[in-house]
Amino acid sequence: RQNQLIESRKLSSIGTLTSGIAHELNNPLNNVSLTADTMLEEFEELEADEAKEMLNDIINEIGRASEVVRNLLDFSRESEQSISELGVETLINETKKLVVNQLRLDKITLNINIPADIPKVLGDLNSLQQVFINLFMNADHAMEGGGTLTVTASSAPDNYVRFDVTDTGCGMTAETLERIFDPFFTTKPVGKGTGLGLSIIYGLIKKHSGFIEVQSKLEVGTTFSIYLPAVSQLENSHGQISSGSN
Ligand code: ADP
Repeated sequence: RQNQLIESRKLSSIGTLTSGIAHELNNPLNNVSLTADTMLEEFEELEADEAKEMLNDIINEIGRASEVVRNLLDFSRESEQSISELGVETLINETKKLVVNQLRLDKITLNINIPADIPKVLGDLNSLQQVFINLFMNADHAMEGGGTLTVTASSAPDNYVRFDVTDTGCGMTAETLERIFDPFFTTKPVGKGTGLGLSIIYGLIKKHSGFIEVQSKLEVGTTFSIYLPAVSQLENSHGQISSGSN
């Protein structure tokens, strides 16, 4: 199987998003409703531990619904962006702190390569941390039983800084690659993935006037390359970051 290379050109459509939301919220709501109905109907006969189990189910389903809502809020977050010049090393190291325990638990070795002379990027620290957390967690999920996560920053042509996030995980089929930026597309079991991580990344990187490339090979691993404008480019040609809603 050859290397797959795709670019994130496609903008996820509102239609896909809306039907996805309806579906993702309806499932847990239906389950809550069913369980609560059953509890009411069988109220007199229920044993304490049965009732407890049902209540736990309800709490879990509500948790699922809340996660969908939380992700949607991230997805549409426009307002609280605060743009500044960010040192690449600080950005990556601050993000690393948030995931390092999980990676250690999952037996994943983290390598970080950042050249000393890398230019700064212009962006919102919280948003970009979210981008890298999502990428690191996806890599983590792809490496069952452990592996190596490598983060490499480099200067790219046309005054971009390129961040390669490479895992030695399961990789993706061409069919999966086609759809990874679609909202609610996930190959993970119910409760494990919302399918919003990469759509959020897509939106945030677009907002930063950057772009994304993905290369993946089944059973070998995946590299997500994030390109962000270097500060020098923004100063010289654009003057400011595009904050565009599209
Ligand atoms: P989620 O992680 O909730 O499934 P994402 O939008 O972050 O949602 O990812 C969508 C899908 O893309 C995943 O379900 C998985 O199939 C695939 N994917 C993302 N990152 C990787 C990776 N590093 N390795 C293999 N597959 C990946």
